[in-house]
Amino acid sequence: MVIRRQIQVSGIVQGVGFRPFIYRLAREKRLGGWVRNDSFGVCIEVEGEEGAIGDFLKEMREGGPPLAQITSFKEHEVTPKSERKFVIERSLAYEERDILISPDVATCEDCLKELFDPKDRRHKYPFINCTNCGPRYTIIQDIPYDRPKTTMKKFTMCPECRQEYEDPANRRFHAQPNACWQCGPRLSLLDEKGSELESSDPIDDVAVLLKQGKIVAIKGLGGFHLAVDATSSEAVARLRKRKNREEKPLAVMSPHIKAIEDYALVNQREQTLFEGYQRPIVLLRKRPGNALSNLVSPRNDYFGAMLPYTPVHHLLLRGNFLALVMTSGNISEEPICIDNLEAARRLRGIADFFLVHDRDIFLRSDDSVMRIARGRPRQTRRSRGYIPTPIFLQEDQPEILALGAELKNTICLTKDDKAFLSQHIGDLKNLEALNFFQKTVEHLKRILQISPRALAADLHPLYLSSQYARSQKELPVTFVQHHHAHIASCLAENAATGPVIGLSFDGTGYGQDGTIWGGEFLIADFKEFTRVGHLAYLPMPGGDKVIEEPWRMALSYLYAAYGDGFDTKSIDFLRRIKPEHKTVVLQMIKAGINCPLTSSLGRLFDAVSAILGICGRATYEGQPAMELEGKVSERIEDYYDYEIRPEDGQLIVDPRKIIKGVIGDLMRGEEDSAIACKFHNSVVRFSLDVCLKLREAHGISEVALSGGCFQNNFLSAELSRSLKEKGFVVYEHSQVPPNDGGISLGQAVIAGSSVRTTRMGRRIK
Ligand code: ZN
Ligand code: ZN
Ligand code: FE
Repeated sequence: MVIRRQIQVSGIVQGVGFRPFIYRLAREKRLGGWVRNDSFGVCIEVEGEEGAIGDFLKEMREGGPPLAQITSFKEHEVTPKSERKFVIERSLAYEERDILISPDVATCEDCLKELFDPKDRRHKYPFINCTNCGPRYTIIQDIPYDRPKTTMKKFTMCPECRQEYEDPANRRFHAQPNACWQCGPRLSLLDEKGSELESSDPIDDVAVLLKQGKIVAIKGLGGFHLAVDATSSEAVARLRKRKNREEKPLAVMSPHIKAIEDYALVNQREQTLFEGYQRPIVLLRKRPGNALSNLVSPRNDYFGAMLPYTPVHHLLLRGNFLALVMTSGNISEEPICIDNLEAARRLRGIADFFLVHDRDIFLRSDDSVMRIARGRPRQTRRSRGYIPTPIFLQEDQPEILALGAELKNTICLTKDDKAFLSQHIGDLKNLEALNFFQKTVEHLKRILQISPRALAADLHPLYLSSQYARSQKELPVTFVQHHHAHIASCLAENAATGPVIGLSFDGTGYGQDGTIWGGEFLIADFKEFTRVGHLAYLPMPGGDKVIEEPWRMALSYLYAAYGDGFDTKSIDFLRRIKPEHKTVVLQMIKAGINCPLTSSLGRLFDAVSAILGICGRATYEGQPAMELEGKVSERIEDYYDYEIRPEDGQLIVDPRKIIKGVIGDLMRGEEDSAIACKFHNSVVRFSLDVCLKLREAHGISEVALSGGCFQNNFLSAELSRSLKEKGFVVYEHSQVPPNDGGISLGQAVIAGSSVRTTRMGRRIK
């Protein structure tokens, strides 16, 4: 029997080869009808034998082009029209409404085959791409996603490329960045001053230069990388010196998984993550005795590695290198460079050469950073490849713009059941970053067609993102407490609603009482939170200075634990600090001068790391805690004593006995690894204890774990395991980072919930 069905597909289905896929499938099944883009995604009508239509629907759900992401799928019966032919119809003139833009995608297998095929017309063409791969988010200037609205507009397709582009059966049908040797972008090689050098094969020349130990700035998909041969300590040392980057690990890129296995341990899940089209940097345990320079990731157990994701990377690496350092082309914490002239200016004095091209990057996007922990992918930096794919929410949201925190800033826009987080914007501490922040806000509003009716920002009065919110006079602003935002982001990505017991553990966040919070136990949902417990307050001698100089925090903890009764000469790390510095800091603590109070767990980790002499001076954020975690080798059950006392209706965790325990073990000559493990166990124990007390008092048995401290694998794993053992439901992050990169999502859903409440006429606090 002949029937006809109409199918409405929404999700990421435009610009990803969905129509050609449907066209081929319908022809294969000998169905009549049509497919076209419309304002909701893709609409299809198929007519034919019932069985054939059944097969068509099944294969459509199961197959589909790799980039398509179907979020909903509605079908209904319509009257047959005796159509035998299947066609791709011109899109109806429609308002672009619910259109999801694809992220940037790594070069696909089909394109790679052509790239290395001497008989192919695109043999070795560094910008080969198709509907299934290539740049997207970083080249889109406006919507609808069409070539004239991308940075490809200045290249006119040659007849052959145009034919591919217009043929519905071709895998380059409507591939907007389609190009070839005849008509597309080209590479060129520049010297250190930015003047073009004669080169018949810039990639070959760059390979030779890198082998000689030179530093080359390479223009990629989302910005410039600085590259050196990762096996040459001399080259890596020079890069570190010039980039002013002392010890923070540098990412590396290798031609294939086999090469990565040479220097790091890769399990099956990690391999899957590596090979996904997003191509993130994946954190891996080092292989002992590996061939990479010790300077790539000094004093750290991990390498951050990635696979090539552009044709330029493939051409440069294959057959040439075990691994290249590929670190962001910027000066310490500034945003990554994207423009040729800007790069030549800002990277002058760092790069010896520049490998550039004439396809502009419209929006910068750093590499994403991930790891596998307990079998699941976890985000550390959600950026290229994942942006602008939304996080799907349980409840529809009003249109909100959330402006994030100060460090690792991202912004977030919500609409319907979607939250769109931006790429990693970085630390909003310099003008370059602030400009990038503003450009991203405007750009995302435009391409996502979202006009926010309210803003959300951090409670901190001095954050640039909060000041920006305040300057947008026409929109109401919800100021959200930092740790509440952490917990809300965790709830949102887990489709939970609360109330939960939220453990918000991080370095710094502005508290409601004006102190610096960071070891917080909250009872929270999207609407509100109550602080029900926290680490005891302690002075931070010198304010933010303690972050770079963890020994100050160690001194603060020692004074809290022993008062004047400790002998500074008996502890090894204290002998290494100048006596006059010690005296000044102790005086500050005693007099309370320039000593803001903090309940931060991050600072407790810093203090213990410094006391053990592991890291007394931090050259990058989180270094002391990371190195302390790195010391934990084998698991022991022991832990240090601590105190939990009620105070004004809150539970205060007093860790002074933990410090005494650490000092005691240190004096007895206990191994660092054992002390580090016992310290971690103590944090797990007191957290669990507080949760048990809170469950008893409030009857809540769901716990959310968020904040930068949960990037610590040992802490997350042990705490989550012990909570589950006691019957708690535990929510953790996997789609967005637990660190401040996820704050904007939490702010958005909190503001969304208060906007909704107001609309319904309820009073809000
Ligand atoms: Zn491709
Ligand atoms: Zn061409
Ligand atoms: Fe935080």
